[in-house]
Amino acid sequence: MAHKENEYSLQTLAIRAGHHRTAESEHGEPIFPTSSFVFDNAAQAAARFSDEEPGNIYSRFTNPTVRIFEERLAALEGAERCIATSSGMSAILSTCLGLLKQGDHIVSSRSIFGTTVGLFNGIISKFGIETSFVPSTDLSAWEAAIQPGTKFLFLETPSNPLTEIADIKALADLAHSRGCLLVVDNCFCTPALQRPLTLGADIVIHSATKYLDGQGRCIGGAIVGSEELIGGSVFGILRTGGTTMSPFNAWVFLKGLETLSIRMKAHCENASILANWLQEQSFVKHVHYPGLKTHPQHELAKQQQSGFGGIVSFEIDGGKKAAWNLIDSTNVFSITANLGDTKSTITHPGTTTHWKLTDKERKEAGITEGLIRLSVGLEDVDDLKRDLII
Ligand SMILES: *Cc1c(COP(=O)(O)O)cnc(C)c1O
Repeated sequence: MAHKENEYSLQTLAIRAGHHRTAESEHGEPIFPTSSFVFDNAAQAAARFSDEEPGNIYSRFTNPTVRIFEERLAALEGAERCIATSSGMSAILSTCLGLLKQGDHIVSSRSIFGTTVGLFNGIISKFGIETSFVPSTDLSAWEAAIQPGTKFLFLETPSNPLTEIADIKALADLAHSRGCLLVVDNCFCTPALQRPLTLGADIVIHSATKYLDGQGRCIGGAIVGSEELIGGSVFGILRTGGTTMSPFNAWVFLKGLETLSIRMKAHCENASILANWLQEQSFVKHVHYPGLKTHPQHELAKQQQSGFGGIVSFEIDGGKKAAWNLIDSTNVFSITANLGDTKSTITHPGTTTHWKLTDKERKEAGITEGLIRLSVGLEDVDDLKRDLII
């Protein structure tokens, strides 16, 4: 399927896009484990290196298997270009290094992946780039935090672990009215449930490690956007800095994409059943899930997402001791911080993903002692319910 990809639906593109059959007539997508590529003659080598002729050169920045994954994910997000990276973090790092310079400024939602906070505060800051953090649902706080040097706004929606929903369209409009870009980490929804570029975002980030793989096998990431925005300086970071995805991992991810839509549907269904069930349990104080009518941004979630996702968090009485007891009593759920797997996982955010925050920061972020996060997998939902009964 080399042409007219935008005529097909997401489910078809997820299975077909990006594979240009080789002379071997293979049906399945091939893996190319080769570090470099051979030229017909010296003149062709020169033309490839100077970008006069497109084609493979060296797998740090051109590999046919990686390219299938890139073209497929670009098609799903409705983008011109995708750059695959070695991890979700290297996707964010490469975007920052490609787009920012000393003296620039980022405004970020404070409800983002902890390691991303560490990247902004501990690494990017060393190069004279400051980040201001704001509550993701407070539009006026975003507006007030923008400075003359602000280059982009950065967010995740739904957020981890409280599933707060940021208004992508409103924030894209705000960013553009102030001459900035909007960068959205679309890890939790994937293009199967939410396509930020169609809502006005400029760049989408992925940790492919999560739902794109879907079975917890490989680490990888991606940057998605227009050729103009990411094809030059951001691709340049990958080409020169080597934040490269391996062909083997790319193959795992592109096979993962083939089942993405049906997996996401099943994750949403199990999560929704479990969230509603948890709400009725006497030991549960509060459930956070965008699909519940009690969720403060339920209407917004309905507008910008086509499903409510697989992440559910809930608070129980009895603080950390009770939360740890419940976690330790499970047999089906895996006690691990990974998410987006067919296997359901359970974590205590206060002492794992968010342990580095001060008590005050945790309180502000709504991470209580009794909070538990589930990444709801694809096991039988009745078995999952039974596993959570205390
Ligand atoms: C896991 C995760 C990342 C980082 O991805 P890695 O592949 O682990 O580097 C970034 N953002 C979100 C929302 C994540 O869940």
